[in-house]
Amino acid sequence: KKVADRYLKREVLGEGTYGVVYKAIDTKTGQTVAIKKIRIGKQKEGINFTALREIKLLKELKDPNIIELIEAFPHKGNLHLVFEFMETDLEAVIRDRNIVLSPADIKSYFQMTLKGLAVCHRKWVLHRDMKPNNLLIGSNGQLKLADFGLARIFGSPERNFTHQVFAPWYRAPELLFGTKQYGAGVDVWAAACIFAELLLRRPFLQGTSDIDQLGKIFAAFGTPTRSQWSDLEYLPDYVEYQYVPAQPLRSLFPGVSDDALDLLSKMFTYDPKARVSVQQALEHRYFSSAPAPTDPAKLPRPV
Ligand code: ADP
Repeated sequence: KKVADRYLKREVLGEGTYGVVYKAIDTKTGQTVAIKKIRIGKQKEGINFTALREIKLLKELKDPNIIELIEAFPHKGNLHLVFEFMETDLEAVIRDRNIVLSPADIKSYFQMTLKGLAVCHRKWVLHRDMKPNNLLIGSNGQLKLADFGLARIFGSPERNFTHQVFAPWYRAPELLFGTKQYGAGVDVWAAACIFAELLLRRPFLQGTSDIDQLGKIFAAFGTPTRSQWSDLEYLPDYVEYQYVPAQPLRSLFPGVSDDALDLLSKMFTYDPKARVSVQQALEHRYFSSAPAPTDPAKLPRPV
């Protein structure tokens, strides 16, 4: 039984934020694909025009470090998004205790992450949900950003449909303070958290709620001062808080190179206006100094 006369359904791969994802074979090309089913049946008018326009934009975002949206079609009250199939993701790599990540491997994975992000930011698309399990890895070792722009099209739910609350670990401080006018800086902060996680091999700031997440951020970087972040007190959810000093970055990331620490500190800048852009991060000397990033085909991956 084929879906849309073209795709042969295989096993379910998992349940994501917006619905079930299953594996399928594209009978037109023989390619293995992953199809994300998004429930739209309840909305009477179906999917709105804005969403369709955004999906068209995603289809046009073609880059080696962005997952390809092959097509999108409605079927039985669900919107089906067809993506290229990917073997694994960065979360599986970070968690696999049998994998040793050298500084060159970390540089390679992180550079691919930023390259994908840079392409999207150049087209004024924000990701808004950067986390290691949204960074998919193909059989050739290429890392590709997934779930781009979906948060903007379908909204960012508070919980996924197995009712788990999303961890706020990758959320930028301006979001935690309730800003509605955020920009590309939210993806830069999340990318910095992913860089930290690659270096530490565990999530860096593991808050249990938005408030707790801010506490974890303050405990690491110190409470933001007015000179560091002048707009802070105008943010919607701003509250006075007790002063906490910053930890030296070196003590949080022992054994990490000076270049890596310098890049981390520039990405973990409180004021989103002062935070480096993705492009500036890519031009940081961390990426030009030794060791050179590992060739993606030679990167360690789960067996
Ligand atoms: P979430 O919304 O929680 O990030 P997703 O909806 O992206 O989850 O994915 C749900 C499941 O489907 C995950 O287990 C993920 O690994 C898998 N998956 C998603 N996209 C692909 C893909 N392109 N290729 C292979 N597996 C995928």
